[in-house]
Amino acid sequence: VTVAVDAPQHSGLSEVLTYTASQPVPPGTLVRVPLGRRVVSGVVMPHPPQDDLGDADLRPIEQVIEGLPPMGTAWLQLAQFAARYYQRSLGEVALAALPPELRKLDAPQVLTRLKRLHKAVGPGAAVAQESVGPAELPPLTEEQQRVVQALESAAAPATTLLHGATGSGKTEVYLRAAARAVAQGRQALVLVPEINLTPQLEARFAERFKGHVIATLHSGLTPAQRLRHWLLAHLGVADLVLGTRMAVFASLPRLGLIVVDEEHDPSYKSQDGARYSARDLAVWRGRHEQLPVILGSATPSLETWLHAQQGRYARQDMPARVGGGVLPRVRLVDMNLQPRAVGQSLALSPPLQAALEGRIAKGEQSLVFLNRRGYAPVLFCGDCGWKSGCPNCSAWRVFHKLDRTLRCHHCGYTERVPKACPDCGNLDIAPMGRGTERLEEQLAQALKRPDGSPARIGRIDADSTRHKGELESQLAAVHAGEVDVLVGTQMVTKGHDFRRMTLVAAVNPDGALFSSDFRAAERLFALLMQAAGRAGREASQSAQSEMWVQTWHPTHPLYQALRQYDYSGFAQAQLDERAAASVPPYAHMALLRAEAKTAAAATGFLQAVSQALQDLPEAQALLESVFIYPPVPTPVAKVANVERIQMLLESPSRVALQKLLALAQPLLHELRHGYKGPQGGILRWALDVDPQAI
Ligand code: ADP
Ligand code: ZN
Ligand code: ZN
Repeated sequence: VTVAVDAPQHSGLSEVLTYTASQPVPPGTLVRVPLGRRVVSGVVMPHPPQDDLGDADLRPIEQVIEGLPPMGTAWLQLAQFAARYYQRSLGEVALAALPPELRKLDAPQVLTRLKRLHKAVGPGAAVAQESVGPAELPPLTEEQQRVVQALESAAAPATTLLHGATGSGKTEVYLRAAARAVAQGRQALVLVPEINLTPQLEARFAERFKGHVIATLHSGLTPAQRLRHWLLAHLGVADLVLGTRMAVFASLPRLGLIVVDEEHDPSYKSQDGARYSARDLAVWRGRHEQLPVILGSATPSLETWLHAQQGRYARQDMPARVGGGVLPRVRLVDMNLQPRAVGQSLALSPPLQAALEGRIAKGEQSLVFLNRRGYAPVLFCGDCGWKSGCPNCSAWRVFHKLDRTLRCHHCGYTERVPKACPDCGNLDIAPMGRGTERLEEQLAQALKRPDGSPARIGRIDADSTRHKGELESQLAAVHAGEVDVLVGTQMVTKGHDFRRMTLVAAVNPDGALFSSDFRAAERLFALLMQAAGRAGREASQSAQSEMWVQTWHPTHPLYQALRQYDYSGFAQAQLDERAAASVPPYAHMALLRAEAKTAAAATGFLQAVSQALQDLPEAQALLESVFIYPPVPTPVAKVANVERIQMLLESPSRVALQKLLALAQPLLHELRHGYKGPQGGILRWALDVDPQAI
């Protein structure tokens, strides 16, 4: 039998290995097989047609994991497609899709877990019928009604873009679509971008689907929990599976619906291992298994928007907020006209400060967001020009005032803040710029409650939520009204249903306007729209709610589009620019990155790969439509003393690019081993298909 095992990419082992078995083992079965001196888990693959098992020195399968039903054909094909498309080994993708705990267990151990699970869940849990009756369901809004009907009456399973404003009630549409799938005896898979949004969604589904088993899959689970939830999905016990991007690989024997909420979110793209897009794989899975896929967003990715325009996806719009609420009024503060504080840039313009105090006086909450954590992004010596660089990276170390450290956010290198400038001894080294810690401090100093006491400022970012339970308790404090102003990074702008929030402010969002990354504007627009969606969610307060943006470029088209909440106008302008520049979604990209001790070595390797491709006879026709750019340093070129260089491959044809990448694979393996350029070898390389950022 052929078995996919997780052999490291550099081991040079082929996609799948062949073993003997004393009796037939169906494809999809989990087995334990010898690999070198170890015994590892593997998944039995369908036989390639030309498979000739005449070879005498094949080793036998060590153990078949009995009791665990084999993974279905559709799942195997998903793994095969993902491996092929993202240029990884089948074994790596297939095994990474299983819970790590499962790969460690032998047959008797798996049987024990299964028994325990069946005992806990009990028989017949899967067919529980006590879900919420029709009388208890909230009546749908007109828009929801129209969308739900359209989804139900679709002639064939399709991918549908649900373009709904923040607060338009998309979740209710997901719930109805899921209920329909479950009523038909199918499973529904619902993906969310952020792990901190799963509890909220889980609560809503649990309330609606009483008596049904709901499995959750995300990185916050313990290994044992993850195995348990994975098994609930795989055994078909769970009717609903909610999770982050990893859940797209869940084994679901009765799958009938996939929902991707906030489909535009960059976190659906994996940034290591197989760099897959869970959103794109969800669409592929839906097509392949002939089931409906709903992609929900207020600001769809331009890829999805274009597909909808071209008719590849159906599209449903829900422009209105539930309950007749309106989106907050957008107020642009022209920072060019604001007084400048002596010696430092201004965090809060006087009108914004007054507006925040006005909200506090009325007992309403505000959200102020800044996409930079820490106190200040860099420390600076005014005498000699020293800056707090990281010795290991081409990046500044961030000043964290709470524990008085300088921390590198790339390699983690942390030191106590020096008392004086390390270069000239000047005692007066100062923070430059502003992060959430500093913003929190400044707001606490500037804002007062009506009784004269300082305003209650909360802060939510990666630093304040490092420990388990911190995020939950901080969110609870906000919901309970114990916070006047919440400061945070983009973490707080997504998804949360804050009921008392009437003002949202972006204090310094301009940076993305002039980024070299062609997706920066798209992401900023989505972020600001999402952030605006946190204010005025209570319809009665929505007319007074506001979205403030402090900017040095108030006439920029992005902000002008934001003022009108004109997503489609903004999207069209972006698409026109993208078409003119031949970048995605009008072109397809792959990035080849190489890491080495020196930039020259990494560059040399990429040049050698490029040359080898240009010399390859089979590649000639493809190279007419695939352009290979020269290698350049990555945005942060050095991390932890490793230089990172990248080479972009671009083509108007996805197929041509894919074919060329397939030809590049063996070259990469060969060159990586043999390659000893004049500057030495490389440490590793990685291929990123459809990269998020270039
Ligand atoms: P979205 O995901 O589109 O931003 P939500 O699904 O969170 O919006 O819905 C916004 C709010 O409206 C939620 O508090 C939700 O409970 C409420 N809601 C949604 N649909 C209805 C409905 N049909 N009737 C009453 N309230 C609804
Ligand atoms: Zn100095
Ligand atoms: Zn560093």
